[in-house]
Amino acid sequence: MKKILVINSGSSSLKFQLFATDGNEYKVIIKGLAERIGIDGSNISYQKEGEKKQVETIPLDNHKTTLKAILDILLKGSLKSIDELWAIGHRLGHGGEYFDKSVVIDDEVMEKIYETKDLLPLHGNAFVYGIEAMKSLLPNIKQVATFDSAFHQTMPKEAFLYALPLEQYEKYRIRRYGFHGTSHYYVSNELRKIMPSAEKIISCHLGSGSSITAIKNGKSIDTSFGFAASCGVTMGTRCGDIDAYIPLYIMQTQNKTADEVNQMMNKESGLWALSGGYSDTRDIEKMYNEGNEQAITTINIYVHNVIKYIGAYTAEMGGVDAIIFTAGIGENSSFLRQKICERLKFMGVEIDEEKNKLRSQFVELSTPASKVKVYMIPTNEELVIAQDTYKLCA
Ligand code: AMP
Repeated sequence: MKKILVINSGSSSLKFQLFATDGNEYKVIIKGLAERIGIDGSNISYQKEGEKKQVETIPLDNHKTTLKAILDILLKGSLKSIDELWAIGHRLGHGGEYFDKSVVIDDEVMEKIYETKDLLPLHGNAFVYGIEAMKSLLPNIKQVATFDSAFHQTMPKEAFLYALPLEQYEKYRIRRYGFHGTSHYYVSNELRKIMPSAEKIISCHLGSGSSITAIKNGKSIDTSFGFAASCGVTMGTRCGDIDAYIPLYIMQTQNKTADEVNQMMNKESGLWALSGGYSDTRDIEKMYNEGNEQAITTINIYVHNVIKYIGAYTAEMGGVDAIIFTAGIGENSSFLRQKICERLKFMGVEIDEEKNKLRSQFVELSTPASKVKVYMIPTNEELVIAQDTYKLCA
């Protein structure tokens, strides 16, 4: 069995999972989360297969100290020695137009990663910190990069090119890239395994960040995230689609800087702003059920946004065979799935109320009579990264 470590590095947090695999079966040995990197009160929580969750409060000054601490945790029973670690897979946000699939990280790849990271001003550095730290700690172990944008590189020009002066694309690479690609790929691929006839799929990754993707014959042909991960459907604290002129107008008339408007659009908007300070749909659902007007409006806007994309992508593909719900909201909120599907009755969507009560499992939610199949499929981006890492390093 080969041991593969998967790393998903954020600016102040870092997720990890250690897999054991023979190339067919992938078993999670341990997974965990380091939080508050570079901030007081940092800790690492982790859970070994079949055991209780543990939390270590430990100073984590930077990504290198964090990964060193994680390796120490792995050496407490998950790995006999560091030599047992066979390869490392990293999640990266942006592959620009360079990467349409995962790659082994060599010097040439690293150069392109440095170039594309600036397309993600808020998160780009964080992804790179994880690779740099691992390379310095374990220089002889093969490392693979899996890009959130890669799956969407199949989008045709009519879906990815913005109607701006062409120079903005040709010189500055401003275009729709799309993200959550690993998740959309995973859930649509899982569905195609049991429903090979599903040529036209709409994948709804609804979580604190949300995106919807149109997948035709296994390829992404359009997606609701664009140049950055702030457009598309309303999100926890991100605004989603707004008129492109609004940020400029706010800057011109309210004397705000680009950074302030960026903060407003990404951290102070979305469900949080609409509901009066709640970004978690569990809280908003509760308030909705209590008759809170603001919560009712928030939920109505959310559902309106989601069905608008489903409608648009159905038209783009000339129909839809299956709709998938995944991620935090998609896998857990029977309430929102029901509200969304209710609005899709016009196209023959019918869901089984009992099955829709289930959470976080691969299950068909539609009734046999439903013209469009509806599935809940738990996403597993880490598994895709481990599989790609195995294939590239084997
Ligand atoms: P994610 O970013 O995919 O981890 O999704 C996190 C979000 O999923 C949370 O902010 C909630 O809005 C939502 N969520 C998680 N669990 C539930 C639940 N049991 N019911 C409703 N929404 C949930």
